Amino acid sequence: MKLTKQIIFALIFGAIVGLFMNLYADNMFPYVNKFVFTPLGTIFLNLIKMLVVPLVFFSIVLGTAGLGDPKKLGRIGLKTISFFLITTSIAISLGIGLAYVLKPGKVGEFDLANAEFSAKQAPSMIDTLLNMIPTNPVQSFVEGNMLQIIVFSIFIGLALSYLGKKANIVYRFVEQGNEIMMFLVNMVMKFAPLGTFGLIAKAIGEQGFDAIQAMGVYMIVIIIALFLHLFVTYGTSIFLFTKQNPFNVFKTLFPAMGVAFSTSSSSATLPVSMNIAQKKLNVPKSISSFVQPLGATINMDGTAIMQGVATIFIAQVVGSDLSMGQLLAVVLTAVLASIGTASVPSAGLIMLAMVLQTVNLPVEGIALIIGIDRLLDMTRTAVNVTGDAVCALIVSETERAREEKRAEKIYNEELYE
Ligand code: ASP
Repeated sequence: MKLTKQIIFALIFGAIVGLFMNLYADNMFPYVNKFVFTPLGTIFLNLIKMLVVPLVFFSIVLGTAGLGDPKKLGRIGLKTISFFLITTSIAISLGIGLAYVLKPGKVGEFDLANAEFSAKQAPSMIDTLLNMIPTNPVQSFVEGNMLQIIVFSIFIGLALSYLGKKANIVYRFVEQGNEIMMFLVNMVMKFAPLGTFGLIAKAIGEQGFDAIQAMGVYMIVIIIALFLHLFVTYGTSIFLFTKQNPFNVFKTLFPAMGVAFSTSSSSATLPVSMNIAQKKLNVPKSISSFVQPLGATINMDGTAIMQGVATIFIAQVVGSDLSMGQLLAVVLTAVLASIGTASVPSAGLIMLAMVLQTVNLPVEGIALIIGIDRLLDMTRTAVNVTGDAVCALIVSETERAREEKRAEKIYNEELYE
């Protein structure tokens, strides 16, 4: 069986086994979970996490050095950031709009009186920006601080492209390091079906189904918004900018979505999604290795959707009407919050506290949604990862078109000389 099919099979089979154990074999679940599901899932998670930091370093250095001219880097950077900001704003507006129409907070009884949730202080935007520059790169590597690793790698890449021959050995080292990482990604992916099975069976098996019933409408609103964003926002952008069939692109990206779905972590999915973008979607290494790690760290449309829906949901539960100005504040803070969200499971919930505080909604409301968040985290992480890959594809195709036009212009000029 091909890997994609194996992963689909593992997802479905894992969900069925987890569901079955949750409903009929409750007493056995802790043992099976401890000795089968958790070890399978953890081996897989650790194996891919093991590759993330070196892969991001090697590939961004190589990517930046490969882009050569800083003008091109600037142009690609601008396109990337614009795509991230525009799609995230669309995502959050979609979440807010749907929550207004479908009113998840008005269906059912929700009691905030006993809800408890203590919000951790989110770092301020200015601090996040200043912290991007590592004062000690070794520490950034040790802590796996993605933004800092990205900034450091871009500097090394720029230096390599300026120094050319003088730093040839280091360049070769990075090139070969990248090859080795990609080879390992392919190797680790052979374990993906088993790992995915373990992660899904554990997640579904642990989930209390009463909680899901109570929060059904809220979950449905988020899932509809995620699908709309995937097919309409990304679908239209793919079609407009690359003229490719969006469904083929989604199909190609499916293994990455499956890994995102089972791990709930954009950064853990990075090795897989970069591999697919480069090998199957023909995104040049230099672009994929710049856009995707950055996207995994700052571009989270699925998370933004959840934050939009959750804010309106909590406002509806407490019976508070948000004014137009407050809604705009929600959009703005949710965009910033999804940028600041770490690419690990459930990070989005912590940043949601920041959004709620901006419009004076009770942070305790998060206690209502925390129980079912794992399932939604899986789905939104798949959308987060797809957004990054789609951006890499669009940037690469628009760059290609630009180069073709330039080549044609030069050809025509020579012809008429
Ligand atoms: N788990 C998400 C991710 O890694 C972040 C979140 O929304 O919690 O992309």
